[in-house]
Order: sequence, then C-alpha cells, then structure tokens
Amino acid sequence: MSDCLFCKIVEGTIPARKVYEDDRVVAFHDIQPQAPVHLLVIPKKHIASINDGTPEDVELLGRTLLAAQQVAREAGLAENGYRLVNNCGKDSGQIVFHLHWHVLGGEKLGALNV
Ligand code: 5GP
Repeated sequence: MSDCLFCKIVEGTIPARKVYEDDRVVAFHDIQPQAPVHLLVIPKKHIASINDGTPEDVELLGRTLLAAQQVAREAGLAENGYRLVNNCGKDSGQIVFHLHWHVLGGEKLGALNV
C-alpha cells in the first residue's frame, strides 16, 4: 500500500534496522523501544491488522510467528523469555495499520493483568 509506513520499510524507501528478512517476512528494531529489546515482525504483504487476516494467510501468519521466535532467540531472549504483543484496532492502541508482532524482552516485564 503506497501510504503505509511499514510497506515503505518493506520496499526500503524508509530505512529500518532490519534483523531478519526472507521472501515474505521482515523484522526490524522499533524506533521507540519500550524494552531493552523491542523488535517488530511483519508480513511483507499488507494486512492491516490481525482482524484482516484470511484463511489464505494462514501459512504467512505462521511464518511471522516462527520469525519472531528466531529473532527473539538471536537477540538472546530465548532463555529468560519475552513477550509477543499484537495491537489490533484503535482501542488496543494500534497506530500502524500493517499487522506486526512486537517482540519485547531483555528485562523482567511488568504484569499485563489480563
Ligand atoms: P502499534 O501501536 O501500531 O502496535 O505499534 C507501532 C510501533 O511502530 C510503535 O511501537 C512505534 O514505535 C513503531 N514505529 C512507528 N514508526 C516507526 C518507524 O518509522 N520505524 C520503526 N522502526 N518503528 C516505528
């Protein structure tokens, strides 16, 4: 999508500190980290939110999760753990409407109370 920030990161027209890329998935550092490690994992395909995924995206969505696992491991988070967060829609605080997983870790994270 031409006006999507994360599509521009996929295309390389906006720079990002990429830590992972394959033919369908990209991961990069969040520009405003909320934890010592804060990565974002996205499908290259523009899917606005998890609400917009369809059965045809099932493999792609699975690949984003495996990429999250890989980048977390490579960032040294596997032993102590990490949090995967997806904000979906305005009530969740989603600000970039291109599906992404936040990978947060590197310290003991606060309780979510959910
Ligand atoms: P959301 O609230 O939509 O789940 O999270 C969007 C995330 O994208 C935020 O954590 C924000 O800091 C990050 N972000 C916004 N603009 C940019 C950018 O230009 N580059 C990178 N790397 N991250 C961004």
